[in-house]
Amino acid sequence: MGSIVLEQVTKSFGETQVIPPLDLTIEDGEFAVFVGPSGCGKSTLLRLIAGLEDTTSGRVLIDGADMTEVSPSKRGLSMVFQTYALYPHMTVRKNIAFPMRMAGMSEAEQEKRIMAAAESLNLTDYLDRKPGQLSGGQRQRVAIGRAIVRDPSAFLFDEPLSNLDAALRVGMRIEITEMHARMKTTMIYVTHDQVEAMTMADKIVVLQAGVIEQVGSPLDLYHTPRNLFVAGFIGSPK
Ligand code: ADP
Ligand code: MG
Repeated sequence: MGSIVLEQVTKSFGETQVIPPLDLTIEDGEFAVFVGPSGCGKSTLLRLIAGLEDTTSGRVLIDGADMTEVSPSKRGLSMVFQTYALYPHMTVRKNIAFPMRMAGMSEAEQEKRIMAAAESLNLTDYLDRKPGQLSGGQRQRVAIGRAIVRDPSAFLFDEPLSNLDAALRVGMRIEITEMHARMKTTMIYVTHDQVEAMTMADKIVVLQAGVIEQVGSPLDLYHTPRNLFVAGFIGSPK
């Protein structure tokens, strides 16, 4: 399970409202992509869903339960950041184990999950290395591994590939898409890259200045953009 619903969610920083009242539904198992220019509120929206920011008003429902006041660790979501956010002094194994250790999982279960994650992410040979001894792509795989082992009801990705070079980005894009096809877990993926949005998404949410300009499948947006902004960002000229 992993449906995510935002009801009349707003967010202000001081006097500045960066998210005007916003409604959005992500279905269980869906791969949703938030796209829009830098500063339009993509990360803020993701952080509101994760609970890393409090909503100014409105509600966040996960599987129908109101999570608005629930702490991030109790929402059952895993977030992957652009900067990987790995612990530099810990080995890959310890980085991946970290959330399980915090949750008090048995050593045997931890090891089983580490091996399964390492296997699926091609990290088996790197478990004893530290992040500094890995390439950018490998680091991002470790971050994804650490997200997978928690068995989340949804994954939240904030521009996970934007620190990687172009060739690696294509490979990781395919890996994440395949991971979704295999696991069928809800994913929300934030990017400013149209190609990522068009190739990965079941549903694209186009944002401008905190406002949803259009929600639809890649084909919908490409063929019937609702306005020039969407057309310019995604579609063919109207
Ligand atoms: P995006 O991820 O689409 O680039 P953000 O969600 O990071 O956009 O930012 C949306 C807007 O909110 C921007 O104008 C940004 O400056 C502002 N903002 C984000 N976080 C904070 C914060 N902690 N304090 C004040 N303003 C913020
Ligand atoms: Mg951002």
